Amino acid sequence: MPLPGLMSKTYQALRAGARNILLQDWATDAPTPPYYEYPPSLSPHPFMGLGKLVAGRIHQMRVAKSYLAAHPSWFDENWNLICPRCETDPETFQHAILTCPARTRLRDLLLKEVSFLGQDATLWSEPDQIRAMGEYITDTRHQENLGAWSKVFLNAPGPPRGVVVLVVHLVHSDPL
Ligand SMILES: [Zn+2]
Repeated sequence: MPLPGLMSKTYQALRAGARNILLQDWATDAPTPPYYEYPPSLSPHPFMGLGKLVAGRIHQMRVAKSYLAAHPSWFDENWNLICPRCETDPETFQHAILTCPARTRLRDLLLKEVSFLGQDATLWSEPDQIRAMGEYITDTRHQENLGAWSKVFLNAPGPPRGVVVLVVHLVHSDPL
């Protein structure tokens, strides 16, 4: 008769060992690009609880393939990396979340405790900070949409007033 708990402890030890080997193989066989500073993980990221659109945006920003200006895509021929909000620096992940002067009000309101975005940042594990990050991204993205659409229609010939109101309504109807 095995000792009480022996099977359970053996299973836990084997499981931990297998996970470590898998993570090592992953890092060796498919290393992340130099600009991606987060280690591979076998657990879902806590920010996945924010909902797929916001969580997707965070994933995109972390891999530098997002709607931010400094994350250009293959289909974007107009590579202006400068932040359209403040027009001072390239709109990187760091800039959009930590330093953009045009987002100071929302950052002070929601992300006062967030000072860096590295793999050890509490932002990736503290539920309150994760929720605040989701809200910050949603709110700043909405403002960007409004800004971009307002510019398009305000600069267009003809009476834009009613069109702008309609567009504002449509943007706010976009489910997030
Ligand atoms: Zn900016």
